[in-house]
Amino acid sequence: MNLSSKLPSVGTTIFTVMSRLAADLGAINLSQGFPDFDCDPALIDAVARHMREGRNQYAPMQGVPVLRQAIAAKFQELYGAAYDPETEVTVTSGGTEAIFDAVAAVIHPGDEAIVFEPCYDSYVPAVEVNGGKAIVIPLRYPDYAVPWDEVGAAISPRTRLIMLNSPHNPTATILSAADMQALARLVEGTGLVIVSDEVYEHIIFDGAQHESMARYAPLRARSFIVGSFGKTYHVTGWKVGCVVAPAALMTEFRKVHQFVTFSTNTPTQYALAEFLAGKRGYPELSAFYQRKRDLFLELIAGSRWKPLPSRGTYFQLLDYSAITREGDMDFALRLTREHGVASIPTSAFLYKQAPPLALRFCFAKKDETLRAAAERLRGL
Ligand code: GLN
Repeated sequence: MNLSSKLPSVGTTIFTVMSRLAADLGAINLSQGFPDFDCDPALIDAVARHMREGRNQYAPMQGVPVLRQAIAAKFQELYGAAYDPETEVTVTSGGTEAIFDAVAAVIHPGDEAIVFEPCYDSYVPAVEVNGGKAIVIPLRYPDYAVPWDEVGAAISPRTRLIMLNSPHNPTATILSAADMQALARLVEGTGLVIVSDEVYEHIIFDGAQHESMARYAPLRARSFIVGSFGKTYHVTGWKVGCVVAPAALMTEFRKVHQFVTFSTNTPTQYALAEFLAGKRGYPELSAFYQRKRDLFLELIAGSRWKPLPSRGTYFQLLDYSAITREGDMDFALRLTREHGVASIPTSAFLYKQAPPLALRFCFAKKDETLRAAAERLRGL
């Protein structure tokens, strides 16, 4: 059967490719972003308790009320933003689902969405499968700053959406207050919608403040803000995320979400609600990961790997130009095969520019994993 592909240039996502290769070869896996340590055992106990107490049937399509209330309370406390849990908060099956649904809710065939590369690998396919066109604006190595004047020039009558991500995967850069002001000036008086991927909101370093769209009323009024419990509570495999948006946007979002997954699994929502309402985990997460970042950097200090600044996320870009000039995909494969460390090439996130000689490493790992990986990396 010959099916005309809706995504002809898409293969299997790099995360699955590299994690699979690492598993097959027994390499240390610093590629796909997930912790190799366990979550708080009390969180597992809470899920088990809710299962035993019979919370095993469909959740409401928008998510269980206690979790939506806890999400709204957190946005109020951290960002001074009021979201109505009834109409403006939805629980999703992971951040990726939330991003897809938001794009699907907004993009009509022929509409344009502005994305910045390096760009998380699901954004462009989400736009294209919905008949839209991604307008890619390069963030340039090594500082990866947003070129706001280019963004202004790229906005056309067809532009419907701007997709942003801070803290940023894979570059580990963050948006500043000045970026937020530039964005606000740009969208003022337009009908542009923002999809803001903030799944690493609680992993931000060196005392910086997370610039959520929620902090800025004019931005909040046009934004879908995407969050992820996987990142915050070390449970990426549970696939629980959320989205907040003004009611008019959320109405359209839910029309899509209810027919993509209908609803997200019930017992984890109840357990996560307890943790979130109890302000557990996230207040100390930045310090937890900053220590891991610093350990990883200390362990490779003096080697030929040159770190770029990691200001948030649990990723670290390392420049390898002092080691080899080979392309990043080739080198990532060889590093896995010959040296037993898996990473992610930034070319997986690029559409326009030539990939820099740098690889992304995930430091959401046990100290012993980081030590073992660093020893191998230092040998190059
Ligand atoms: N966000 C994770 C990463 O960047 C991967 C998630 C996934 O594999 N879909 O590594």
